[in-house]
Amino acid sequence: MMDDPAWQPLHDELLRWARAGRMAEFWLRDDDAVEPTAALDRSLDLTAKHAIPLTLAVIPAHTGDALAARLSREGHVSIAIHGWAHENHALAAEKKQELGPHRPRQVVLGDLARGFARLSHLHGERALPLLVPPWNRIDAGLVSELDRLGFRALSVFGPPKPASIPLINSNVDVMDWHGTRGCRDHVLLVVEIVAQLRRAFGGGDPVGLLTHHLVHDEAVWSFMERLFEVTSLHRARWRSPPELLAKP
Ligand SMILES: [Zn+2]
Repeated sequence: MMDDPAWQPLHDELLRWARAGRMAEFWLRDDDAVEPTAALDRSLDLTAKHAIPLTLAVIPAHTGDALAARLSREGHVSIAIHGWAHENHALAAEKKQELGPHRPRQVVLGDLARGFARLSHLHGERALPLLVPPWNRIDAGLVSELDRLGFRALSVFGPPKPASIPLINSNVDVMDWHGTRGCRDHVLLVVEIVAQLRRAFGGGDPVGLLTHHLVHDEAVWSFMERLFEVTSLHRARWRSPPELLAKP
């Protein structure tokens, strides 16, 4: 494993953590689940094999009993509320948003309450009070209302920002959305993970890996497998959202 130069910076960084007696932390968010598929099986099997807690962002309006039944035997999976229908309400010239300022606030909040209730009904305790806005975007005016709906955390993409609710952000996206629509270059992904680990060393967020199982190419799966192997080798910890929230 030490022979691949692309991964050497990660080995080096994790060795630095180990020498300092520190525990590097990661978490995994996999978006857009609605039903059992071969790609979902692959994500579940890969994470189970490596004992990685998986947070699956499920789209409430389009999911049902089949996914709940499939996940009922997967002890390492928790569910996040992925908006309501993953429907874009923004104008054509804008970035896509379901939870933007385009509809009356009460309508959007009603969707979120409905989504939370539906996934709680389908998945029980496994449905976390964690909102993952579609396209990682939510109108700032809605965030202060989330607590009232029962949400206890919000997960978008990028650096932490001040918010009235705890943020558990993803910060490394494996997908090249605007180019190949496959996996980004492994070398660049390793560089990003190392940069996030350096921020984490100084008190920043843990590494939040963002995946989308439905659109992975082979290079994404092989990247994930190698990352799980390298982090395991160095005894880094993969956390669930409740574990991250429980931290002082
Ligand atoms: Zn999504």
